Amino acid sequence: MLVLHNQTFIDRDEAVVDIEDRGYQFGDGVYEVIRYYDGQWFLLDDHLDRLQYSLNEAEIDFDVQVNNVKARLNDLIEHNHIQDGGVYLQITRGVAPRNHPYPDKQAPTLIAYPLNLKRPLDDQQNGIHTITAKDFRWLRCDIKSLNLLGNVMTKQKALNAGASEAIFYRDEIHVTEGSSTNVFIVRDGTLVTHPADHYILNGITRRYLLNLADKLNIPYQIEVFSLNTLKQADEVFVTSTSAEIKPVVSIDDKKIGDGTPGTITNTLLEHYFDDINITKLPEDV
Ligand SMILES: *Cc1c(COP(=O)(O)O)cnc(C)c1O
Repeated sequence: MLVLHNQTFIDRDEAVVDIEDRGYQFGDGVYEVIRYYDGQWFLLDDHLDRLQYSLNEAEIDFDVQVNNVKARLNDLIEHNHIQDGGVYLQITRGVAPRNHPYPDKQAPTLIAYPLNLKRPLDDQQNGIHTITAKDFRWLRCDIKSLNLLGNVMTKQKALNAGASEAIFYRDEIHVTEGSSTNVFIVRDGTLVTHPADHYILNGITRRYLLNLADKLNIPYQIEVFSLNTLKQADEVFVTSTSAEIKPVVSIDDKKIGDGTPGTITNTLLEHYFDDINITKLPEDV
C-alpha cells in the first residue's frame, strides 16, 4: 500500500509518525473519511470543503486548494488501484518541540491512505441496537478534530452493552448525535435532525440526506429533540460516510417501531445507491 505523506508517496512500512507531531501529542489536527464507489468519488468536493472549514476553525494554516489535495487524492487512488473503498486523510499542525502554544513556523503534516470500506449491508438489513450516553465532549463538535477520546470511550461503552452505536444527549431534552454518526428520527412522516451548530459534526451524509428528502418530497425539520421524543419516534436511523444509512431498531433495549427497519428509512436507503456518482451537493443545506 502506498501512503501519501505531504506531497510524496511512500510505502506503508516506511510511513512513521514523528514523536513530536502535534497530532500525536495533542490531537492537534483534523481529518476526513471519504468514500470511493465503483471507480468514482462520492461527494469528494463537499468533504474537501468541510476539511477546509475544520482547518480554518482550528486555525491550522493550510489551504486545501493551493496544496492540490484533490489531485494528490486522485493519485493515491491510482497508485493503489482502488475501485471501491475510501480514504482516510488527516492534517495536523505539524512537528514542533512539545509546547502548548502554536509553533511559530507551522508546517502542517498531511497523510492519506486507502481504507477498505465495505457496504454495511447486514446492519442495513437488520438494523442496529444502540444505547444513549451523556455527551461529555467539548463544545466545538463542528470541527472534525482528531480529539476523539470522548467518542471512542462512548463507542466502547455501546459495544460493552451489546449495542453498536451510542446516541449522545447533553441533557434529557437535548439529543445531539451518535458517537461517530448523525441521528435522524421520523415522526408522523417528517424527518427530524439536530441543527448544524457547535454541538454536532455536520455530516456530509446528513446533508446528502436532507437533500435527498427534498428530492423525494419528504418533509423535514431541523430542530433539537428530547430523549423521550427519540425513544417514541416511529423510525430512527444514523448516518455517516462509512455507515451510510443504518436503521436503528432499539435504543436502551426499547424497540423502535416494530423493531425492524422503518419504511421511510428503507426508501432513503434504496435511493442512496442510485446516487453514488454525485461529487457535489447542489446547495449548502
Ligand atoms: C464524521 C462524523 C459524522 C458523520 O459525518 P459524515 O461526513 O457523514 O461522515 C458524524 N458525527 C461525528 C462525531 C463524526 O466524526
